Amino acid sequence: MKAKIFEIKRFAVHDGDGIRTTVFFKGCPLKCVWCHNPEGLSFAPQLAYYAQKCCSCGECVSICPEGAHTIRNGQHVFDRTKCSGCGACEKACLYGALAFYGCDRTVDELLPVLLEDREFYETTNGGVTLSGGECLLQAEFCEALLKRLKAEGIHTAVDTCGFVPKTAIDRVLPCTDVFLYDLKAWDESAHIRCTGQSNRLIIENLEYIDSCGKAIEIRIPFVPAYNQDQMKEIASYLRGLKNITKVRILPYHNYAGSKYTALKMENTLPEELPSEEAMQKVRELFKTYGLQVAD
Ligand code: SF4
Ligand code: SF4
Repeated sequence: MKAKIFEIKRFAVHDGDGIRTTVFFKGCPLKCVWCHNPEGLSFAPQLAYYAQKCCSCGECVSICPEGAHTIRNGQHVFDRTKCSGCGACEKACLYGALAFYGCDRTVDELLPVLLEDREFYETTNGGVTLSGGECLLQAEFCEALLKRLKAEGIHTAVDTCGFVPKTAIDRVLPCTDVFLYDLKAWDESAHIRCTGQSNRLIIENLEYIDSCGKAIEIRIPFVPAYNQDQMKEIASYLRGLKNITKVRILPYHNYAGSKYTALKMENTLPEELPSEEAMQKVRELFKTYGLQVAD
């Protein structure tokens, strides 16, 4: 069994407690307008081409079996329609102009990489986080990987958008120490506007995990143009759940703009960024509902 992975990030400090290694799985059922990981949306492998880094050296031309790279009049031309997503050209580029997203990995291949930083996990109460995209679209693989991590005594976190079948949650529940659970809007219509999907299944799954007694860290991307007016309702709702260990408000940023261009994807990133004052206000709001808020 193999999973489609687009990144493994070591020394991650924002994906759960302590120092962690985060595995990013490809493919997502939502399409958030503010997505900062557009390379995780599609399940298909993708090559990003950063034109501003390319010096037209031509090293990628002979590597590509499909003839997707050519040099014309001294300039590199990338024909994306010919790319089959094999990933072979990424390493040929010494200038970092090519980035390949979508490697196939087995549990046996991933495990040694994930255990490399065991010492840091132990000294910081960290561990391994499965994220994405949406890792639970590949739930069978996640279950197998999490089981092996637990057998090694590693703390595990699953970062999910919650828009997955309940059966996917059941698979990983016994071997997950904490869920990092995204909430983006409370009103169904607002949620559809932000993500393209209803949030009913997301709420159902959150309540199911809560009823099973699992620790849940809620993560709320704060995007003023899309969900600023939703915060009170979310805070009020969360107060009624039993196993919310903390709420983390994530300030929206637009750093991913160049990735959209490099992947030739439509850039949907909103313009308005949250001010520090607005962030502080929303953190205070959640505290007034008796919730612990991460800084
Ligand atoms: S990923 Fe493979 S098919 Fe696509 S451009 Fe690179 S070498 Fe060619
Ligand atoms: S190897 Fe990199 S720098 Fe050279 S032509 Fe290809 S993309 Fe451009």
